Amino acid sequence: MLLLTLAAAACVPSTGGKPAVLLERQPPSAEASAEAPDGEVEPPEVPPPTDTPADAVLTIDYRVEVRSPDPDLADAATTITSVLEDPRGWQQANIDFRQSPDAPYTILVVEGEEAQALCQPYDVGGRFSCQNGPLVVLNAIRWREAVPHWPGDVASYRTMLINHEVGHLLGMHHLRCTEEGAVAPVMEQQSGTLRGCRANPWPTPIELALAATHQFVIAPAPLDVAFPQ
Ligand SMILES: [Zn+2]
Repeated sequence: MLLLTLAAAACVPSTGGKPAVLLERQPPSAEASAEAPDGEVEPPEVPPPTDTPADAVLTIDYRVEVRSPDPDLADAATTITSVLEDPRGWQQANIDFRQSPDAPYTILVVEGEEAQALCQPYDVGGRFSCQNGPLVVLNAIRWREAVPHWPGDVASYRTMLINHEVGHLLGMHHLRCTEEGAVAPVMEQQSGTLRGCRANPWPTPIELALAATHQFVIAPAPLDVAFPQ
């Protein structure tokens, strides 16, 4: 049985059986925190509601920019659009992703140095990706190479990367799989470690149920606190 709560504690005690998924107290989109202590900053426990009720379609207008001369990234924009339009993705949470040249949200694929700059005040070490306000910054290093412990192909890693960071754009925080062998939430920091869980590039049913409430702040800004380096 899955136990999920918006508790403030870094780990949520189970009231009956070991929880398979926990919400963590972590900055919403600092992937460098995979190598940094957890629990240094605290996101809002109960985010203020959006203007979109759960039974209405939440429209996310976005555009894609691939800022790299690397020919291997030439099809990145097509891949991103394909993932966002995939029926296995966040659209199941009653979310409509629409491409528009004047969109308020931008999904970028950039090299490490630019990712480091765009993600500030998060320190992504030039290697990780982030969501920073209206920007979803996908690091080209990870896009090309995935991570050594990823058990699938690079295409499935890219799918996970897109869904994870766009999940942050939707206001989703990190989730943690704590039961060995369970399917990792897509909001698990799978680029850091799989914790014995099964790699997963798509949002899980419980993540979709959370996102479908439309109660999260869209495109959250970095918290106004110092981030652990
Ligand atoms: Zn994240």
